[in-house]
Amino acid sequence: MSLNKRSIFKCASVVVLGCALVITAGCQYQKSSNDSTQAPTLVPSEPCEHGNIVIEQDFESGQFGECRVDAKGNFYLNIVPEATPINPSPWYAFKVANPDAENINVQLHFSGYWYRYWPKFSRDKHSWQSLSREQVIANDEQKTLTLNLAEQGDFYIAAQPIVDNQHYQQWVNKISALSDLSASQFGQSDGGRALLALQTSVDDSKANIVILGRQHPPEVTGAMALFTFVETLMANDALAQDFREHFNLLILPNLNPDGVAQGYWRLNNNFTDLNRDWGAFNEPEIQHANAAIEKFLGENPLMSMLDFHSTKKNILYTQKDGQSRFPQFANNWHQAINQELREQNQDITMARKGSHNPKLNTAKRYFYERYDIPAITVELDDVNNQSEAESLGRVIARTYMQQLLELRTQ
Ligand SMILES: [Zn+2]
Repeated sequence: MSLNKRSIFKCASVVVLGCALVITAGCQYQKSSNDSTQAPTLVPSEPCEHGNIVIEQDFESGQFGECRVDAKGNFYLNIVPEATPINPSPWYAFKVANPDAENINVQLHFSGYWYRYWPKFSRDKHSWQSLSREQVIANDEQKTLTLNLAEQGDFYIAAQPIVDNQHYQQWVNKISALSDLSASQFGQSDGGRALLALQTSVDDSKANIVILGRQHPPEVTGAMALFTFVETLMANDALAQDFREHFNLLILPNLNPDGVAQGYWRLNNNFTDLNRDWGAFNEPEIQHANAAIEKFLGENPLMSMLDFHSTKKNILYTQKDGQSRFPQFANNWHQAINQELREQNQDITMARKGSHNPKLNTAKRYFYERYDIPAITVELDDVNNQSEAESLGRVIARTYMQQLLELRTQ
């Protein structure tokens, strides 16, 4: 889908909402009278450049919406969602070329939403660090960020470290080469991108586990934790080997490759929240995922489902105590995670909330109702850095294996 299609969609939805608009801005630029950082009314700049400074979004997950540049060379990037209304998770990722080490002023406008993700900097799109407090000014009730960039040469700015589809393909190749997991493609997304699966060889005498990831494209800390979670399950230590003696694994790590590629805030190619499609099965990604899971299970039951996401804190969204065939699993696992974090002296905790909403077509609801199992949404804090998210992935993996092995012997 092109940016053009997305702009039309945005335009239509904004007109319905009746927002005040600068009409010349193609229905995208929402004006508010008390917005002191309001960009001047400028025509969109294509390409996005001034002098020798160039800002680009022409790479996977690249997205800055719309660019304007004023006469002084200040850049205004209008970050727009793929559709509205939407969960406020403004995604942005762009490359800056600054050959002369000029001072660059870039204002990020988030269509009236809170910025959610503090900007990260990278030279190579692999190693990232947060921009300093001196380089970023938040205005307009945190709905605008002004970046002061003076680094020389080429660099990237993004909402979160970029974990794109190529990264998943490389990770799947690597872990399938190093472990007993075999890689396959279980279908194609609406946009024709590969849907990747990893699984152990299936033994009918073992219990079955399903791991899901990346239904929501910007939720990168959850993706990072999923990587180390799976690597820990596949390790060659005694715990992981014992675990794999008793459990079959199916991992669908990247359920929304179109959203990832296009830098979407939340949705898939059809502007649908995939984590509201479990049970409805209208979207190809979830149809294929469900078919892959049913094929994996055959006549055998499912014992546990985990679905990795990110939000404002580290939290497990579980069933309430007493619900499911394993009524104390979530409570025991949650306590074990925090005990291990305390023993490691980590300045991090995991929260838990037990609930059940039969009206929401989440993976959590679907797998709990269908299989009567602990079906848990694992949420990583947005502000975890990479090493924190990866470390948490290992802790939740070890405690998960311990708790499931204990459950099996009861
Ligand atoms: Zn999510």
